[in-house]
Amino acid sequence: MNHTLERAPDEKVNWATSIPFILIHVLAFGWIFTGVTVEAAILCFVNYYVRVFFITAGYHRYFSHKAFKASRPVAFLLAVGGASAAQKGPLWWAAHHRDHHRYSDTDKDIHSPLKGFWWSHVGWILCDKYNETKLENVKDLAKYPELRLVQRFDIVPAFALAIASLVIAGLPGLFFGFFFSTVLTWHGTFLVNSVTHVFGRRRYVTLDTSRNSLLITLVTSGEGWHNNHHYYPASCRQGFFWWELDPTYYVLKVLSWFGMVRDLKAPPARVLRAERIKEGHFDLGMFQAHWKKATAALHAAGRHAEHYAGAKRRAVEEFLESAKQTTETITRISQVNNGAGTATAGE
Ligand SMILES: [Zn+2]
Ligand SMILES: [Zn+2]
Repeated sequence: MNHTLERAPDEKVNWATSIPFILIHVLAFGWIFTGVTVEAAILCFVNYYVRVFFITAGYHRYFSHKAFKASRPVAFLLAVGGASAAQKGPLWWAAHHRDHHRYSDTDKDIHSPLKGFWWSHVGWILCDKYNETKLENVKDLAKYPELRLVQRFDIVPAFALAIASLVIAGLPGLFFGFFFSTVLTWHGTFLVNSVTHVFGRRRYVTLDTSRNSLLITLVTSGEGWHNNHHYYPASCRQGFFWWELDPTYYVLKVLSWFGMVRDLKAPPARVLRAERIKEGHFDLGMFQAHWKKATAALHAAGRHAEHYAGAKRRAVEEFLESAKQTTETITRISQVNNGAGTATAGE
C-alpha cells in the first residue's frame, strides 16, 4: 500500500510481542460475563478520567514539555499516576513525544498519519523499533533516580490499580472498572496522535498537519487543541482562549493555588495575536502535506509506468527474440534446402 510517507522496512507490527496488548483488549470485554454494577461503572469513569489527567498533565505537559514546575515528590506522583495507565514509563513516553514534535509529519516522525492512519493510532506502539527509551532525549528526567525507578517498574502501578479495582468492586470492578477503562484510556490517548492530525480545524500555520478538535478535547480532557499545541508546545494551557475547554489546565490551576504545582506557562500575547489561517487561505503545513501526497502519487505513477513500460519492453524483446529465432530457423532450413538442391544439381 502506498502512503504519503513510506515507512522504513523495520517499521512494522510484531504480532507475536503484541499478544499481551491484544489480550487486554479481550479482557476489557470480560464484563459481558460478569455484568456491570453501579460501583464498577463509577470506577470505570473515575479510572478513566483520573488516568487521562495523569497522562495529559503528567506524561505530556510536565515530563514531555516541562510546561509547569513541580517538586520532586509531586513529579514522582505524576509519574506513578501516569504509569497506572499502562502506557509504559514516563521516560519512554516523553522521549518519543519529544521526537514527535521535533520531526512532526516527516519520515522521522514515529507516528505521523502520513505513514497511515492505523500506524499513527496504534501500529507504532506494536513495533519493536520503538520499544527502547531514547535516554538522550530525556537527560533532564533520567537524572532523577525516582523517575528511573518508575520507568524500570512501570507495570507495578497499573497492576496495583487492577488489584484495588478488584477489591473495591469485585470482578465487574476488575473487568469494567479496570480493563475496560484501561483500553479506553489507551485509545483516548492514541486519538491525539491519529485523529488530531487528520480531522478538525487549523488555526495556526504549523509545518505539520495538527488540528483543533472539541470532540477529542472532551475525550482527552483538553488535549484536542493540538494545532494550538504544535504552534506553541511550551504552554501549559492548550485551550488558548476562554471558549477552548481545557479541564486538565483547570485542575492544574486549582493545584497551583495549593502550591502543589507552579509557574504554569501561558501562551504569550504574540501567540494569541498571531495571524490565523482564514478559510481558503494559503496554509504552508497543509501545502507541505498535500505536496508530499502529490509527490508520493507521482512516484507511485512513475513506478507503475516503469512497470508497465518494462512489461511492454519485455514483450517487444521476446517478440524480437522469437522473430530472430524464426529468421535463423528459416535461414537454416533454406541453407539445408539450398545445400540439398546444390547436391541434387551436382548429381
Ligand atoms: Zn502531534
Ligand atoms: Zn506535545
